[in-house]
Parts: sequence; structure tokens; C-alpha cells
Amino acid sequence: MENDNKTTHFFFETKCPKCGKRLDAAVGPSDRPNKDDYTICVGCLSILQFNEDLTMRIAKDSPYEVEQARDNFRRFKHSLN
Ligand SMILES: [Zn+2]
Repeated sequence: MENDNKTTHFFFETKCPKCGKRLDAAVGPSDRPNKDDYTICVGCLSILQFNEDLTMRIAKDSPYEVEQARDNFRRFKHSLN
């Protein structure tokens, strides 16, 4: 979408460290995720953080906004069922 300021980024295949789901894309405001950026697993909704090599780790603590985003995403996901 031209007017959407979010961009889809693709990167090499990795897996969610929590549930093992294959993850190969993320959406965000910059060209590519940066180290320590937060993301949410589409499988188990764990809050994750990117490592330097774009693998992911489970976030030890996460900002309130990220938890809000996760809760919104959970509601969205449930609405699809
Ligand atoms: Zn997961």
C-alpha cells in the first residue's frame, strides 16, 4: 500500500524460540529490523526481540506499548476464528 508507512521486510528463515514456528517476514517502520527491536510471534504471540543476525530471542521485559500491541493482535487473531 502506497500510503501505508509500514513496510514488509523479508529476511532469512528463523524460528520462534518459544513455539518453533517458522518466521520469515516482519512488518515495521524501517528498512529492516534493528538489534533489540521488539516483534510478536504470529504463532504463540510471544514478545520477541531481534538479535544482530535477525534471529530472535524471547524478550525478558517489554514496554507497555508492545504488550498493548500484542493484546490488540491477539484480539484481531481471535476475530478471524
Ligand atoms: Zn511463537
